[in-house]
Amino acid sequence: MDTLKLAALLFPDVTKTPEDMEALFPERDLPKGAVVSRAAPSPTGFVHLGNLVQGLTSERMSHQSGGILFLRVEDTDAKREIPGAVETLIKALRHYDIEFDEGATVDGDHGLYGPYRQSQRKDIYHIYAKKLVLEGLAYPCFCTEEDLANMRDEQEAEKANFGYFGKWALWRDRSIEDIEEKLSSGIPWVLRFRSTGSLENKIKFTDLIKGDLELTENDIDHVLLKSDGIPTYHFAHAVDDHLMRTTHVVRGDEWLPSLPLHIQLFKALGFRLPKYVHIGPLMKMDGNSKRKLSKRKDPELALTYYKAEGYPVESIYEYILTILNSNFEDWRRANPALPAADFKFSYKKMNPAGSLFDVMKLRDVSKDVISRMDAKKVYTDVLSWALEFDLEFASCLSKYEDTSIAAFSIGRGGKKPRKDFAVWKEVKEYMGFFFDELFTIEDSYGDEFSKDDIKAALSMFLDTYCPEDDRTVWFDKVKAVADSLGFASDMKLYRDNPEAFKGSVADISMFLRVAVTGKINSPDMYDVMQILGHERVETRINNMISSL
Ligand code: GLU
Repeated sequence: MDTLKLAALLFPDVTKTPEDMEALFPERDLPKGAVVSRAAPSPTGFVHLGNLVQGLTSERMSHQSGGILFLRVEDTDAKREIPGAVETLIKALRHYDIEFDEGATVDGDHGLYGPYRQSQRKDIYHIYAKKLVLEGLAYPCFCTEEDLANMRDEQEAEKANFGYFGKWALWRDRSIEDIEEKLSSGIPWVLRFRSTGSLENKIKFTDLIKGDLELTENDIDHVLLKSDGIPTYHFAHAVDDHLMRTTHVVRGDEWLPSLPLHIQLFKALGFRLPKYVHIGPLMKMDGNSKRKLSKRKDPELALTYYKAEGYPVESIYEYILTILNSNFEDWRRANPALPAADFKFSYKKMNPAGSLFDVMKLRDVSKDVISRMDAKKVYTDVLSWALEFDLEFASCLSKYEDTSIAAFSIGRGGKKPRKDFAVWKEVKEYMGFFFDELFTIEDSYGDEFSKDDIKAALSMFLDTYCPEDDRTVWFDKVKAVADSLGFASDMKLYRDNPEAFKGSVADISMFLRVAVTGKINSPDMYDVMQILGHERVETRINNMISSL
């Protein structure tokens, strides 16, 4: 075969060479051991936890080693692309604080190794496609859909393996005349790899997460360029990760079956093979068994779910570290105050079989994370969530900034901070009563209490209430109300002999709580009253008295 002629026929416009590309995209000048890695998502319109797990793993590996992380958008599948999906993808990764040093951004590409969108790299792929043709390692195939369907039918009938190989590879050894004839009639073609692999041969390979693997060689002549000249994932992966000087390919283990082809391609192209880090899937418990999280069944796979619920970015970050690295929780217990980014992440601590995802556990982690934030930060984050998802709440938060921050300060700081909410969506329920616009009486007094006692307790409290009282004086006054109405002010006495009393001081507090907050459960009453101020406390208690 005259490959020179074939290459000229197939790629008449390609004038640049692989050497030109090597010069344009030289080896990166980085210290030894620095990891260059990337996130390479496809803009399908659905950004999911897997993207975050992949992004975070590669981000930690790159940045902890003093290396580089870049974002490459794998937008070669125009059919699947939804308008705006690239921007959605970039913004979602940005929202979760995955910091890219280079790559695609909403304002275009940044960095010297671009373009970072595969749809803009067609010319580059063709340089390498031409090289493979010149070396006899790739050839055009003019099979129609129908030819390929027939091939599959025959393979099925013969119980042969599926795929374009051996005697089924109709265009593998066709003459240049046949090819020229098709080309001149304008018949569409794809470029196929000329595989020299055999199912008889095994390759030994070490994946950084999966460990030592024995893979079967690939014997299929896979498509490298589709009929529109756009590369398949396999070809683009080899060309891009070589030219962008990726040292570590971090990706989902659904790509493991394609690895033998990728190893062949790197070799055929004369590229050094990067290291591979194949991440196991995210799973959840379904009854007693584990299964992969599914786009169809599990809304919690989508990142939009976490944003709408109002999970702080820090909580998601912390939880992902928890499920990816088995030693993260111990580290956190030993270092409660350090930022999660100080943790020494290691791919060695990742479970090759994947990670178990559990929303309840995420909630616990999130409560911890929020309990460590200061009130101002909580305020800012809740407000920005509310501006997107609950405008009524947002307008109260903005109108009463000081009250809100004071409310978020209750029980914050100290050794045992309160853990009242896991997501911003729950905050309104927790503290909306501070705002007159949102205050309503939600809970009612139980039938076991007489209205007269409740009214009496409320008005006696008001008679003596003085906002300048400290916590102890305030509580003594509540106890005094209890005593004078036949409720126990001493909880021990009450527990020993409950029949002797109408109730206890806890019930008196509850009467106040429902009047002032509308609820049976609320943050500390003393603090709440301090923040609401004398006038509001008085109005709310009086309103309750007159409604009974
Ligand atoms: N575009 C591929 C995906 O979204 C990327 C895999 C890779 O990281 O190489 O699955």
